Amino acid sequence: MTGIAQNIKNLKAELETYHAKLIAVSKTKPEADIQDAYASGHRDFGENKVQELASKAEHLPNDIRWHMIGHLQRNKVKYIAPFVYLIHSVDSVKLLRTIDKEAIKSDRIINCLLQVHIAEESTKFGFDESELVEFLDSGKLEELANVRIVGLMGMATFTDNEAQVIREFTGLKMLFDSLSGKYSYDNFKLRELSMGMSGDYQIALECGSTMVRVGSSIFGERNYG
Ligand SMILES: *Cc1c(COP(=O)(O)O)cnc(C)c1O
Repeated sequence: MTGIAQNIKNLKAELETYHAKLIAVSKTKPEADIQDAYASGHRDFGENKVQELASKAEHLPNDIRWHMIGHLQRNKVKYIAPFVYLIHSVDSVKLLRTIDKEAIKSDRIINCLLQVHIAEESTKFGFDESELVEFLDSGKLEELANVRIVGLMGMATFTDNEAQVIREFTGLKMLFDSLSGKYSYDNFKLRELSMGMSGDYQIALECGSTMVRVGSSIFGERNYG
């Protein structure tokens, strides 16, 4: 077994008690690394750049479930709309409208997570809680029949302060629970809470994550040239 396959196996064993899913974040990594993971039976991969995602999808087996996890520009939605499995990073209503339009063209319903801004850093994208509530109250989601909101995504502050990370993840879990109970649109059924990366996925699981996005702990550190 390769190191990559072994890392995935160990992580999955760890996730089992939480019934959480593993998204293997393969950004910047070669297709051969994905093939390794694929050969061990893994099918869920995450990328944060449209071009890289589309190119890898073209070359790799078509039963891979591709997760878009990075900031998504509206003019690039069309390149992934025909096949993307889940978009984790929907951070504006405008983007959601574009995804709906492109989904119609591809005759699909695209599953999406709404990204919520929970970190202290202002660089991380996402809805503020109040914006999200305002949008959901407006009923405008019902007009977007080709998108389906299946959950929320969040990224905690990059910090050694564990209490802060717990506070941010717990806040998102509470929002998840309150929105789940409050709205019942046909295309709004919250079942996934995507939170946790290599550095904080264990905390995220304790706070109620159902999907962790792990890159470097599987594939090794990334080199951004
Ligand atoms: C890169 C990335 C990850 C994975 O990060 P690691 O620290 O390598 O596990 C998770 N989520 C998002 C949105 C990312 O961009």
